[in-house]
Amino acid sequence: MQTSIHAWHYGTRQPVQLDCDLGKITALTPATTAPAENVWLAPTLVDLQVNGYGGVDFQQDNLRAEDLLSAVHQLHAAGVGRFLLTLVTDEWPRLTARFRHLKKLRDTSPELRFAIAGWHIEGPFLSSEPGFCGAHDPALMLDPTPEKICELAGIAARDPLLLTLSPERAGALEAIALAASLGGVISLGHTDASSEILKRAVEAGASAFTHLGNGCPRTLDRHDNILWRVLETPGLTVSLIPDGLHLSPAPFRLLHQLLDSTKIFYTTDAMSAAGAGPGSYSLGRLKVEVGADQVVRQPGRTNFAGSALRPIDGVLRAAQMLGCPWQKVWCRYSETPAKLMGLRSELRVGGPANFCLLTFGAGGAFQRCEAYQAGVRGEGVMAAPPRRAGLGTSGVE
Ligand SMILES: [Zn+2]
Repeated sequence: MQTSIHAWHYGTRQPVQLDCDLGKITALTPATTAPAENVWLAPTLVDLQVNGYGGVDFQQDNLRAEDLLSAVHQLHAAGVGRFLLTLVTDEWPRLTARFRHLKKLRDTSPELRFAIAGWHIEGPFLSSEPGFCGAHDPALMLDPTPEKICELAGIAARDPLLLTLSPERAGALEAIALAASLGGVISLGHTDASSEILKRAVEAGASAFTHLGNGCPRTLDRHDNILWRVLETPGLTVSLIPDGLHLSPAPFRLLHQLLDSTKIFYTTDAMSAAGAGPGSYSLGRLKVEVGADQVVRQPGRTNFAGSALRPIDGVLRAAQMLGCPWQKVWCRYSETPAKLMGLRSELRVGGPANFCLLTFGAGGAFQRCEAYQAGVRGEGVMAAPPRRAGLGTSGVE
């Protein structure tokens, strides 16, 4: 089935014609006329930290494939094409059993296999110190051992695997070197490591830092704290949660001034309430409440427990905070995180026909977006291509 799309290109901001056939992009050429509607074409978003979405908590035992598919479809409707399913701290046997179960579910479905690009294990190798442990249960924290690293790598098999760990834990530097040698990507986080340990962690193979500005106490020593130390450590690509809540606008802007633009990527750290509205939800064993302000809190506590941010809203808020067009920040939520994990998210002739279509109103107000996946539902580019302006399906086999 061939599909043609006439839209504005997010990078060049010029009209283009995108042609797809059999799940591949076959042509991407300049168009001579403007699209009839304010429709934009971009690579899909890639979110490296998703704990749950749209009412589905990935931290539950015995999730069904249909639960995962529901979350995947809702993520597509928020611009995400692929993501790392994220599991947080739990008792080791429960965490690994959950991981095995989810891996099995994913492998049964081409659609899940594509959308769940890999895995992010955040915990239990984190700091158990107050504030640094965040919403993770400090009583369940463990030191990383070679056996445990090999077990995680074994479950992930050949899938991309991101590990967030705290490098000051006993054996962590050796664990980083081992995980990196097994193909894992190591992100530091929920840590109060010294500058020296951060440096040694990078030398051992760590390449990222998880949700900078979070996973630490609300009050920090003004002279010496984890934020200053990370910013002084070369070699780390940092993730930021662009909701304006996890990082207020001023530090969000300052981090963009301080760091190379290729060293920042965005993630939601979304939990099940994301895309689902205010109410009471679970995050593993935690009962959390989500208010109209989209803040996820444990009752009676002030720390955040994940976010309820819709990915596309994260892009729009980042652009708003930085005072720039959304097209300028899009790569930090697509190409940059994809590259960190050895994936690709780009509009490329010959590449898979995965793309995001964004529709804006005549006055420029965002209306909707959708990530489309190539051939993963078994019949061409889209199972049921929506009929909307700018997007035509010829139906030619
Ligand atoms: Zn965290």
